[in-house]
Amino acid sequence: GPGGEPQDDCLFCRIVAGHIPATLVRESDTTVAFRDINPQAPTHILVIPKVHYPDAASLAAAEPAVAADVLREAGEVADEEKLESYRIVFNTGSGAGQTVFHAHAHLLGGRGLQWPPG
Ligand code: 5GP
Ligand code: ZN
Repeated sequence: GPGGEPQDDCLFCRIVAGHIPATLVRESDTTVAFRDINPQAPTHILVIPKVHYPDAASLAAAEPAVAADVLREAGEVADEEKLESYRIVFNTGSGAGQTVFHAHAHLLGGRGLQWPPG
């Protein structure tokens, strides 16, 4: 198939469908932004595509316009949160800390962010 279809066993597809509650901060035709349940910074928001791909690179390869939407929405949320500095992270693979295999951007801000991240 063309890819991107909702997966019954995917937590973030279930949030997109409204079957699991989340604290939404912004929504577009193609994306949803909501607060991370276990925040790692004063602002920690997840921006996800409504379509299902296992990671950000897969999304970008299959639907580049939607990948761009995710980035633009993350920037809009950063502006709304009045973050002058922030980080956008795409953990990819379990060794990098990815636990939910539906593409998502972490938007982190509101505190100093170390570089390199470790
Ligand atoms: P990953 O580790 O895959 O890069 O990021 C997954 C993120 O999803 C984690 O930061 C985790 O705290 C968050 N998360 C996991 N389950 C839920 C949930 O049910 N609701 C929300 N809002 N965030 C979740
Ligand atoms: Zn999904």
